[in-house]
Amino acid sequence: MTQNSGIAASTGSPGHAPHTHQVLIVGAGPTGLMLASELALAGVDVAIVEKRATQALSGLRAGGLHMRTLELLDQRGVGDQFVAEGQRFQIAPFHETMLDVSDTPTRRNYFLALPQSRFEAMLADRVAGQGVRIYRGQEVVDFRQDEEGVEAQLGDGTHLRSAYLVGCDGARSAIRKQGGIEFAGWEPSKSWLIAEARWREEPRWGIADDAHGTYALGKMEEPDRVRIVLVEHALNRGDQPRLEEVKALLVEVYGTDFGIHDPTWISRFTDQCRQAVAYRQGRLLLAGDAAHIHPPMGGQGLNMGVQDAFNLGWKLAQVVQGLSPDALLDTYQAERHPVADRVLRNAMAEVALQRRDPRSRALGEKMSELAAMDAPRKYLVAERAGLTIRYDLGGDHPLVGRRLPDLEIVAGGRTRTMYEYLHEGRPVLFAFAKGADPEKVAASDRVLRIAARCEATWDLPVLGPVEPPEALLVRPDGYVAWAGSLDDASLRDALGFWFGSDGV
Ligand SMILES: Cc1cc2nc3c(=O)[nH]c(=O)nc-3n(C[C@H](O)[C@H](O)[C@H](O)COP(=O)(O)OP(=O)(O)OC[C@H]3O[C@@H](n4cnc5c(N)ncnc54)[C@H](O)[C@@H]3O)c2cc1C
Repeated sequence: MTQNSGIAASTGSPGHAPHTHQVLIVGAGPTGLMLASELALAGVDVAIVEKRATQALSGLRAGGLHMRTLELLDQRGVGDQFVAEGQRFQIAPFHETMLDVSDTPTRRNYFLALPQSRFEAMLADRVAGQGVRIYRGQEVVDFRQDEEGVEAQLGDGTHLRSAYLVGCDGARSAIRKQGGIEFAGWEPSKSWLIAEARWREEPRWGIADDAHGTYALGKMEEPDRVRIVLVEHALNRGDQPRLEEVKALLVEVYGTDFGIHDPTWISRFTDQCRQAVAYRQGRLLLAGDAAHIHPPMGGQGLNMGVQDAFNLGWKLAQVVQGLSPDALLDTYQAERHPVADRVLRNAMAEVALQRRDPRSRALGEKMSELAAMDAPRKYLVAERAGLTIRYDLGGDHPLVGRRLPDLEIVAGGRTRTMYEYLHEGRPVLFAFAKGADPEKVAASDRVLRIAARCEATWDLPVLGPVEPPEALLVRPDGYVAWAGSLDDASLRDALGFWFGSDGV
């Protein structure tokens, strides 16, 4: 691979090859697929390079979708399709307790169990329907950026040129490494073996624990198959463990290996937590596991990747379409880096709570007690669900920087939910004050303007009741960019900053 991928001295000459695509995404995992879908929705010519020949995925990986991810799917009008494929749970595990999540103020007040393989297949169908090209069975082996674009080389020697390249190529991201972007964080202290195999002797189903931690043997759809998660007694790092290692650990813990054989998946994960120090380097961007990794406790990885994609998609679309300066892309790192930092720290706390020494156990008991109390429970549930995110966008109103709640409003004599207005991925200016006319605001045609009536108070997760402002400007990702009165000069500034040259 070419080591120097920094912006080379530009020729700026007209001799550059034309772009093959406006944006090239590396990796068709959940993050890359969602980003492609968002870009295609905005009318961008986007393609994906994926080294897997098909979308098939071995092993379980992510088990489902948290509330905020479901809301994002609702924002595009496809939430019901995904919910129909999964199973709803109104409880969430926290350390050794189960938390009730049913009173969370969102239409999607549950965790949706949906295997990553199914989620990816559904997203792949969506992007295929949107006309996104996927170069399957192909690997990006090299890339180089200049002032006008990025040139990626595929394994078969094909060269693809694009205005921006986004590395959604997972935890071992070659794109991140080649970009020379530091993956800073914490070294592993513990490792786990995970496997799916057939058994001859019926396993002792459920959770077991000892001084090292917990072990889980779970039933799979096929009756003679078992899903195994075992904490290792010493830290191991190799990510391709052998069946013999799983068998040996089973014997050590259970006195038998249950005759496991014919594995379809064996893997190892550790508790290392790392985050790219930069999510952007010129025309190169990183999202999903390529930008942050942590152990799977709390089930956040896939969800964070999808949310990265929602944050980046509309911004990148506006930049490649010449509507916004490329400085808008800097807000991607400013907003998403702190979110992942928080998730990494929470995952480290959950690993620490799993320690089995008497003092850690005492701390765990205390935490479980606290988690069962109403206010901490609501906080823990909302945070893990992705509902407490507040981007630092300035502004006094408590809604600014937070997600728009999916409440019903009445506009033009019809009752609709607010997310229905986000289906096209356009910015929306809602005016709730009596007689206020958003059509009078000078803004681009892209900004949807809706005069509506709404409830007198809105119930926000953790914050509780909040009075809605006279007007709200909502970004295509469903976060509130501005709140106030239509006459405020700050509205013009917000329109210009977020929605570019034709925004005012
Ligand atoms: C055991 C386990 C349990 C997990 N449990 C959960 C959970 O409960 N909840 C949750 O939210 N998350 C969970 N995760 C994490 C989740 O699986 C990841 O966060 C998620 O897959 C990240 O998506 P991604 O698209 O960013 O990366 P990936 O899914 O890793 O996708 C990257 C894609 O890039 C492709 N690729 C890589 N390099 C190249 C290249 N050079 N050229 C072309 N293509 C390339 C790969 O083939 C792959 O398809 C779990 C993970 C594991 C391992």
